[in-house]
Amino acid sequence: MEVLGVLLTNPMDVYLEAELDKRYKLFRLWETPQDRRSDFLRSHAQEIRAVVGDTAVGVDAEMIEALPRLEIVCSFSVGLDKIDLSKCKERGIHVTNTPDVVTDDVADLAIALAIAVLRKICVSDLYVRSGAWLTKGCFKLTSKFSGKSVGIVGLGRIGKAIAKRAEAFGCQVSYVARSEKEGVGYKFYSSVVELAANSQVLIVACALTEETRRIVNRQVINALGPEGVLVNVGRGGHVDEAELVAALKEGRLGGAGLDVFEREPCPSEELLPMDNVVLQPHVGTGTWETSKDMADLVLANLEAYAHNRPLLSPVL
Ligand code: NAP
Repeated sequence: MEVLGVLLTNPMDVYLEAELDKRYKLFRLWETPQDRRSDFLRSHAQEIRAVVGDTAVGVDAEMIEALPRLEIVCSFSVGLDKIDLSKCKERGIHVTNTPDVVTDDVADLAIALAIAVLRKICVSDLYVRSGAWLTKGCFKLTSKFSGKSVGIVGLGRIGKAIAKRAEAFGCQVSYVARSEKEGVGYKFYSSVVELAANSQVLIVACALTEETRRIVNRQVINALGPEGVLVNVGRGGHVDEAELVAALKEGRLGGAGLDVFEREPCPSEELLPMDNVVLQPHVGTGTWETSKDMADLVLANLEAYAHNRPLLSPVL
């Protein structure tokens, strides 16, 4: 029987890479310089039948066209914005992702970012390390998280997990989604501007699609206001980063906690010296435990496909 040829786009997880190498014929895309990748794909086009991508390097139309035998794409992510889904659909290519196993970590980080911004955790950590506590005395007062009104953009798996955590902090939770959710007990808004106007902390946790690109724009930021805090654990494309920088500079927004950026790994340089922002290098799912669970789900999907069994987390 022909061994499945699998293309791994990026070095996303050591365990996953080792297992793929053990079980299949593995091709490592990143080992080929960018300008020679089309040649690389062309020369292995008859062998590669599966691609494993992630949030950095997914599967675009060009890659799909270069791989005529591609049958399945297994994403090491829940977000699908780096996969050309319509092209996959057109070609009948299966797509899987890693839902549920990532939920807790991303929700934990969202709350951590909100608290880190409001309580100035990073700035005050530096205050101790630099010796300023000794020379300048007590640190300035910060702002409380418990009891604040929290607006969530996207009440899906991650949004609901954030809501549950925020509730435990005594926060009033409200949300926007494409449709009102029954039985959740949180206030639903049909407009993000209205949600922002009624929130002290706005947390973005929805899928990135053409509809949600730059869903946080100037109007939303202004509605959140000078005391408001924006947290983004969705995708960089959800926020108009230039508008965010301008609002932070002009004091129209209180602060921001960001795990994702429009251009990764290069956030707007103007964010770097700001002490009212907390920045993370897209590590929402970046724990040993979750990375292993994501890898196992990718492997289980590939195994199911190879043995003609139903996929575990099919998208297409
Ligand atoms: P999910 O369960 O599919 O939830 C997605 C949510 O987005 C749904 O509630 C959906 O609303 C909402 N949504 C879609 N289009 C919308 C629109 N036009 N306006 C408002 N809401 C809209 O997905 P999930 O598992 O919670 O993951 C959500 C996203 O988190 C992923 O797509 C990914 O981009 C991001 N993520 C980030 C990290 C990280 O490392 N920072 C890690 C994992 C995931 P409806 O329910 O009404 O359709």
